[in-house]
Amino acid sequence: DDPQDQTVSQLGAASRVWLHHSLLSLQGALEQRGAQLLLAQGNSLQVLSNLSEQCHATHLYWNRCYDPATIARDKKIKQQLDHLQPESFSALLNAEPWDSLKDDDTPYRVYTPFWRKRAQYLPGPKPLAAPKSIQSLTPASVKKMNTVSVEDLSLLPERDWHIDMMSHWQVGEKAAMSNLKRFLKAPVHDYNDARNLPSIVGTSKLSAHLHFGEISPRQIMHVLCKGAGSIKNLSGGEEVFAKEVIWREFAYSLLFHFPHTIKKPLDKRFDNFPWETRVKKNLTAWQRGMTGVPIVDAGMRELYATGWMHNRVRMIVASYLIKNLLIPWQHGEKWFRDTLVDADLASNVMGWQWAAGSGADAAPYFRIFNPVLQGEKFDKSGDYVRKWVPEVANVPNKFVHKPWELSAIERAALDYPEPLVDLKESRQRALNAFDQIKAPH
Ligand code: FAD
Repeated sequence: DDPQDQTVSQLGAASRVWLHHSLLSLQGALEQRGAQLLLAQGNSLQVLSNLSEQCHATHLYWNRCYDPATIARDKKIKQQLDHLQPESFSALLNAEPWDSLKDDDTPYRVYTPFWRKRAQYLPGPKPLAAPKSIQSLTPASVKKMNTVSVEDLSLLPERDWHIDMMSHWQVGEKAAMSNLKRFLKAPVHDYNDARNLPSIVGTSKLSAHLHFGEISPRQIMHVLCKGAGSIKNLSGGEEVFAKEVIWREFAYSLLFHFPHTIKKPLDKRFDNFPWETRVKKNLTAWQRGMTGVPIVDAGMRELYATGWMHNRVRMIVASYLIKNLLIPWQHGEKWFRDTLVDADLASNVMGWQWAAGSGADAAPYFRIFNPVLQGEKFDKSGDYVRKWVPEVANVPNKFVHKPWELSAIERAALDYPEPLVDLKESRQRALNAFDQIKAPH
């Protein structure tokens, strides 16, 4: 835990909670194998240098990260601790970003050819089994070290909102693997359609496990392929699932090859986009799930309550913030980073730039999601919005995604906000704004 380390200091509140439980779970798994989890706080280079001296280490190994700040930090550690023969390995991804290039050795900007290339090499290297026992340090040598406990890291917030949030989750490697097996047993076969329906559990819910390394994409691919050496025999749903897992790798490829996109649009035309400058009121209403558009509010409330939001709804709320409210995508990315248990720099930035139309393989800017039509298509019966927006629980199906069309008396009885903006007018405003930057880049 290094306070100067960008990846640690930027950990959002929900991710910190997950990390707390994940570390406890890892500690338990190591103890079962006769080893301890040693935690230290401070500058990574300094800490590793001290610890290696204290325990007379001869080697230093770690798994790679791909964001620019961590790459720079790890480079420095490799140079300064050269005497420990430092070596880094790949665990976070199925294949390295520098091994996933086009034939002309440049990085992909479009997903389909990236997938086609990567599909040839799946399931990828076989993961090694975890060791049954691990040689431990003696208690005397551990005592001499400057270590801290999981609790000392103060990852949990003072207020107890996290207890309800974590009631939706089981954390750790065992939970991740049983979640994968549950998903592959049945839901995966309907995945192609069911993954778009937010009212059911039609997806794997593995994203936070993947982010925290509780399960690896290699493990997923090998379990999915049932020991086969290729993805040739996967069913339709299984192949779509494999494709989604590889979207995550595409996100990491973009992060590695275009690191400036963390903050800036990949499509430079968007540098001059005429965003709304006074955002506070509408941004707060969006964050609190009080925009007056039920599917948007349902998503934002699901996020706040559970630390997760369905992918279809992530796309809807992102489009609404960016296009209908004209609020820069970075505000949404920041809120997601703070509230998602699966907040992941690569996937989050890619998702937001995709929604803004400014990223790689992004939706064209002019394709603006209509949240009413999205709701009517993917939440036909209104079950999802009724669950998260109880104010509309008794609204008939016909109006459940557009309660503003009810009579004034019926609306007054709902105690639910009027829409922040008119969907049609705000759509046109977004298109006019886009016209200003439309020249080809
Ligand atoms: P499943 O449908 O079961 O997919 C399996 C796995 O594939 C996921 O766990 C995930 O690792 C990967 N995956 C699926 N879709 C995507 C995708 N579009 N991009 C990248 N990886 C994908 N995902 C994150 O993990 N962290 C984020 O911070 C994040 N932010 C997002 C922000 C926006 C605006 C959008 C539109 C999407 C974002 N996503 C993010 C992608 C996606 O919404 C989640 O990965 C997915 O909803 C997680 O649920 P699941 O594990 O049940 O997914």
